[in-house]
Amino acid sequence: MPRVSRLILILGDQLDLKSAALEDFDVQTDAIWMAEVAEESTKVWSTKPRIAMFLTAMRHFRETLSERGWQVIYHEMGTHPTFAEALAASVKELKPQNLVMVHAGEWSVQREIEKEAAMLKLPLEVREDRHFLCTTADFAKHAEGRKQLRMEFFYREMRQRTGVLMEKGKPVGGQWNFDHDNRGSFGKEGPGLRVAPRRFKPDAITQEVIAMVNKRFAEHPGTLDDFDWPVKADEARLALADFIEHRLAEFGQYQDAMWTNEPWLYHSRLSAAMNLKLLDPREVIAAAEKEWRDGKAPLAAVEGFIRQILGWREYVRGIYWRFMPDYVGRNAMQAHEPLPEFYWTGETDMACMRDAITQTLRYGYAHHIQRLMVTGLFALLFGVDPRRVHEWYLAVYIDAVEWVELPNTLGMSQYGDGGVMASKPYVASGKYIQRMSNCCAGCRYEPAQSTGPKACPFTTLYWDYLLQHEPKLKTNQRMSMQVRNLARLDESKRSAIQKQAKALRKTYSKAS
Ligand SMILES: Cc1cc2nc3c(=O)[nH]c(=O)nc-3n(C[C@H](O)[C@H](O)[C@H](O)COP(=O)(O)OP(=O)(O)OC[C@H]3O[C@@H](n4cnc5c(N)ncnc54)[C@H](O)[C@@H]3O)c2cc1C
Ligand code: SF4
Repeated sequence: MPRVSRLILILGDQLDLKSAALEDFDVQTDAIWMAEVAEESTKVWSTKPRIAMFLTAMRHFRETLSERGWQVIYHEMGTHPTFAEALAASVKELKPQNLVMVHAGEWSVQREIEKEAAMLKLPLEVREDRHFLCTTADFAKHAEGRKQLRMEFFYREMRQRTGVLMEKGKPVGGQWNFDHDNRGSFGKEGPGLRVAPRRFKPDAITQEVIAMVNKRFAEHPGTLDDFDWPVKADEARLALADFIEHRLAEFGQYQDAMWTNEPWLYHSRLSAAMNLKLLDPREVIAAAEKEWRDGKAPLAAVEGFIRQILGWREYVRGIYWRFMPDYVGRNAMQAHEPLPEFYWTGETDMACMRDAITQTLRYGYAHHIQRLMVTGLFALLFGVDPRRVHEWYLAVYIDAVEWVELPNTLGMSQYGDGGVMASKPYVASGKYIQRMSNCCAGCRYEPAQSTGPKACPFTTLYWDYLLQHEPKLKTNQRMSMQVRNLARLDESKRSAIQKQAKALRKTYSKAS
């Protein structure tokens, strides 16, 4: 192997030919370095779909780089257990003078690489991740001097800065936000017939990865029987085109709706492709905006979709880098219950939880409201330690990367950050799930009941949560109506709820 001058480190979620790390690549003297390491799949007990997604996308990217004639040093699974060891081995062999990388998407990975570079006495050049529309420095500027951060204000700034859905400095349609049009449910007749999302049949590389994951990670949860995700840039573009043509127009109206055995509904399925950097968010935003400008999709749907990417996606990244590393340890509600074991199997008599978890293990996917208002809500009401909840979400979804998963889980869904991400805990009873889905019709529980043998666990735990945290919640104006409703419960009802909640915790608290 010839000596190389610079070793360009590419991580599993940096699969972008336009990456800043590759912009001055010198084919004569540089080499690209990539490594599959088991610790990435075991530090949280990752599902098979998540492991396979990262590995097959990495191997496809290796192909793309090699086709350009670029030298790629690639450690396949099993060569070295950790990044540090794999890197040390390559440095010993190739003796590079410099290491170059784009900033990692996970705080601890960045620290680990910096530490290893120092150990190896090699200069490490860390470049900005240009995939994002807002740099961490821009976000810091936005946050400076604000007592409270709110996504809506950040999003408006991003619209102004990028000119997306803007005309003459004003939001198109005369308003920033069409959220009130975006809360529809399907009604009794259900979502009706739709064109199924485009599938990507596993090619030879993916099949090889699937076989390897099934063998090497046999004990890990989930299955790869249905693996059909876009795993390279051209497939990701086809997936985007498919979404724009068949689902965008209805996205807004039904973005919060759920339906049994309908995992995709009108969602884009683009999160993993974007998070692994197979797809540029600018391209996604531009394609959606064009659809509205061409009169093919309503503004409410297009604005609702763009807000998720230009707003939420950029905002959570800003929050992550602003508040890490202490953010991951926050536990504002002092929740200490273990994660119930059924999160890893889907074996529960709660129909909504069974649907969401089974689908998660099968596809590595659940849409936002399933994550927030089913699995997330249950963990919040149950009082699971937010760190355990975070570890589960990071392990199970094909799009899970810590910068986006952690603020969504610990902040938005568990209120573990005490109000940085969300202005109030997202708490609701089983009646919310009944309104937004058909799950309750096939469940042995009754969403309206909080006590008794048919009481819905969500509803019991909802009232118990309010009772438990009443003094704290009272101080939050946005919770006032929910807290006021507690007055409707007399003493005997309160103690019946608390008794039932205690029994539920005992039943379900077999830890995973
Ligand atoms: C508890 C919890 C954990 C989550 N963990 C992740 C995660 O690990 N990775 C991840 O990408 N998203 C995560 N999300 C956000 C969101 O649920 C997913 O991005 C979305 O469900 C992915 O499916 P989709 O591509 O079909 O999205 P769509 O519903 O089609 O939305 C379009 C795109 O908007 C972006 N987006 C939407 N909502 C959010 C959000 N809240 N934060 C950031 N981006 C958003 C995504 O890039 C998504 O692809 C989480 C949400 C919750 C409540
Ligand atoms: S009754 Fe309760 S547990 Fe059953 S599906 Fe509805 S919300 Fe879920």
